[in-house]
Amino acid sequence: MTQVIRTSAELREKVAAWKRSGMLVGVVPTMGALHDGHLSLARAAREQSDRVIVTIFVNPMQFNNPDDLTKYPRDEAHDLALLEAEGVDVLFAPGVDEVYPDGFATTVSVSGVSEPLEGAFRPGHFDGVATVVAKLFGMTQAGRAFFGEKDWQQLQVVRRLVEDLNIPIRIIGCPTIREADGLAMSSRNVRLSAAERAQAPALHQIMQAAAAEIRDGAPVGETLMNAQAAILEAGFSAVEYLELRSVEGLRPMANLSEPARMLVAAQLGDVRLIDNIAV
Ligand code: AMP
Repeated sequence: MTQVIRTSAELREKVAAWKRSGMLVGVVPTMGALHDGHLSLARAAREQSDRVIVTIFVNPMQFNNPDDLTKYPRDEAHDLALLEAEGVDVLFAPGVDEVYPDGFATTVSVSGVSEPLEGAFRPGHFDGVATVVAKLFGMTQAGRAFFGEKDWQQLQVVRRLVEDLNIPIRIIGCPTIREADGLAMSSRNVRLSAAERAQAPALHQIMQAAAAEIRDGAPVGETLMNAQAAILEAGFSAVEYLELRSVEGLRPMANLSEPARMLVAAQLGDVRLIDNIAV
């Protein structure tokens, strides 16, 4: 049985009892509308910890676009059934007032790695992420936290955060889970129309092709420009960024001088898709 907990006081008691008996606690922070990507994190947590907490909290502080927050899919009953099937011990699903009570006044802001890419296009987003993640680590007192590589930059921001604030938790990155046609799973995919859903896999395909060209020695700038044009040609209305960056510090890379990541954000209809791959 997965126990649903709504308050940090109750969660703290539960976790304290686990820890007294020497158990290692793993946490998987999510915003719900769970899919196989999230469940792969729950499975990794199951394998690498004694007790697993999945959190579901649609964090208003990380939404720079109010419309995106309103339209964010929510289905807790369905999520709970999925977590039961994975053998998750606790679903921690606090309300907004539990996380941000009256008088809340602290923002955690990670500079550097949070500034380009998503940081440039979604002002304040990573402050929201860093703040809520720091709180979730405090509330769950977990020893391990599992994050998806799907949100590559977020993973780097979280690693920086725990290092800089000496938070005693190990961050484990898990590979991106994709649909059979290559589209990275995302809670926002349900908002794609049938026609958009058919166009969406082009994003990953075009990136794969561009990555192969770059590995074969094609010039980075020109290859990315062509790939951007191909994404627009495939039906996307805008490409916010398509860049080659160093794997951890996310420094811009003009050539393949060290291991790299190609990262993209593009708009399809009214859905914003992000993805990234190794190069
Ligand atoms: P979200 O609910 O979108 O905030 O995501 C919660 C966690 O699931 C984050 O660590 C994401 O990186 C991860 N995640 C989301 N989609 C995927 C995916 N397709 N594959 C692997 N992890 C994912």
